[in-house]
Amino acid sequence: MVTELLEDKGWKWLEGEYENIKTHIKVMCDIGHKFWVSMGSIKALNGCARCSGKCTDPEFHTDQLEGIITGHGAEWVAGEYEGSEVKIFIRYHQGHEF
Ligand SMILES: [Zn+2]
Repeated sequence: MVTELLEDKGWKWLEGEYENIKTHIKVMCDIGHKFWVSMGSIKALNGCARCSGKCTDPEFHTDQLEGIITGHGAEWVAGEYEGSEVKIFIRYHQGHEF
């Protein structure tokens, strides 16, 4: 189960709900980095982007990026933050959901 995978890595589940393997949830790694990850990729990851050295800029936190994206009415759908290169997919909210 996903929760066991997270526990194995020492990660905490912060936000989001499990729907399917593509669902993204917000997790916190064992040293406190917060990021969004898809259920399907948790297993494949050895560490979070910052722990594994992919993210080298400590000034620019994923949380801030997330804030910028959501501030624009968009949603972080997939991908991860890697250093100065941002390789993420953003989905803009369109229409209303009732
Ligand atoms: Zn980390």
